[in-house]
Amino acid sequence: MSVTENTNMPLVFEGEAPRDWWQSVKRGFWGRCPHCNEGRLFRAYLKPVDSCEVCGEEFHHHRADDAPPYVTILFVGHLVGALMLWAHERNLNWSVWTEAIVWPLVGLVLCLWFLPRFKGALIAYQWALRMHGFATATPARPALSKPATT
Ligand SMILES: [Zn+2]
Repeated sequence: MSVTENTNMPLVFEGEAPRDWWQSVKRGFWGRCPHCNEGRLFRAYLKPVDSCEVCGEEFHHHRADDAPPYVTILFVGHLVGALMLWAHERNLNWSVWTEAIVWPLVGLVLCLWFLPRFKGALIAYQWALRMHGFATATPARPALSKPATT
């Protein structure tokens, strides 16, 4: 397989259709297979499946590594900081103890909610750009296509 540069896509593999990275990221964010959008991407909270149960796309060679917690901390930190400023602008007059309990809890809950979603989005992004092992992997079965509605 040879790789050619293209001005529209960062990498185009000859003989293979380009993958829509934004669609893939959205599917991965919601824990769905970026290829078929039918199978689950995770078998546990943060444990990706080795391959899609519906289309057979392999995910065991993803390299999300430390990126999901990094993105989660970056995003949630800015979000909670903005919420804290908003609360102060609204003169909610919370006691120090209230703030010391509320903001860490808000941050913790948001981190736990966003972490698997950002991990799924990053795995799907790697899949869409054929990074790491995704370049040579071929699905066992073609992606399901929904019949056209009339
Ligand atoms: Zn799939």
